[in-house]
Amino acid sequence: MSGSNNAHSIYSASGAHRWMACPPSALLEQQFPDETSTYAEEGTAAHDLAEHKLKKALKIRSKKPTSSYQSDEMDEMTDLYVEYCLGLIEKAKESCPDPQILIEQKLDFSDYVPDGFGTGDLVVVGNGILHVVDLKYGRGIEISAEKNPQMMLYALASLSLFDMLYDIKKVSMHIVQPRIDNFSTYEITVDELLTWAEEELKPKALLASTGGGEFCAGDHCRFCRAKNQCRARAVKNLELLKYEFQDPALLTDDEIAEIIGLSQELSKWASDIYTYATALAINEGRHWEGFKLVEGRTNRKYTNEVAVAKAAKAAGYNDIFKETLIGIGEMEKLMGKNKFKEILGGLVEKPKGKLTLVPETDKREAVDPISVEFQVEE
Ligand code: SF4
Repeated sequence: MSGSNNAHSIYSASGAHRWMACPPSALLEQQFPDETSTYAEEGTAAHDLAEHKLKKALKIRSKKPTSSYQSDEMDEMTDLYVEYCLGLIEKAKESCPDPQILIEQKLDFSDYVPDGFGTGDLVVVGNGILHVVDLKYGRGIEISAEKNPQMMLYALASLSLFDMLYDIKKVSMHIVQPRIDNFSTYEITVDELLTWAEEELKPKALLASTGGGEFCAGDHCRFCRAKNQCRARAVKNLELLKYEFQDPALLTDDEIAEIIGLSQELSKWASDIYTYATALAINEGRHWEGFKLVEGRTNRKYTNEVAVAKAAKAAGYNDIFKETLIGIGEMEKLMGKNKFKEILGGLVEKPKGKLTLVPETDKREAVDPISVEFQVEE
């Protein structure tokens, strides 16, 4: 992955895992906007900082980037990345005094994938070995370097930059995911890499570029822009529901374990669809038959605890602390509903609830999203 100068090709290296598993997804997802997320923005900030620190450590001029995402944790994690990279460079110097070092290098793999390019965080070449390093700042999923198509694409692109100049025999790919202590390495020979490119990558890229091949749902759907409306994903998930129950009357432990496995994928899918449908109802006024938008439930809260304590004490209620001020429910019980309203009514508020999509049968009143301030319920 790259920093802030990143642009995406349709067949991006970071999406290669998906479009190689489901080639027609590359064209299908083009009709959906490429929305950024706070995680992606945080990742970009971490890459920018890591690039700066690595350049500084190698005495290359660089201006420190600024970002509101920077934090002590980011500082520490990017230090770990830089330490890893410097270790790799030092090791390369043991057998080759002057290794080639490229930081945030644009890598062109269009020989294999139409218009394909990406950005390599660090590429080091020395003594017959090409190293490709990628920083992953996320911590949601542990990413392995083993047979990782993104890394193999970067390796192929780096190889075409250097194979005229150096006799490269092996490629070593490194994923540094410091927030979950994941430092994953995978090494293959150049011959193996080129065989993969000819036999697996090129045919899949050709299918992807023409919209050909079979739709295939799986873990890779998570990052597909078509995932909410994709029929293949829906069919696969609905298939999971056709669980064949056998005698005896009670489920066995093995069956329960199997259902737990299915339920994770199903609940991820259901939650994606719900979030998508809610966002459309709120942002575009889309009506979903049998559903309506309501304000989500919220809890009352004190507007000013010091003033609450003062008012309660002034009215003769002294038993109002249990380490901290007692909650609204307990206070109401202590005073009785009417007294509570009289003494503290002006010091209690009920925040507006987030808009939520619920069945028509829900007792709450339907709201018009245009007339209220809202946030999508997550
Ligand atoms: S959601 Fe999954 S199955 Fe559907 S196009 Fe995307 S990757 Fe393919």
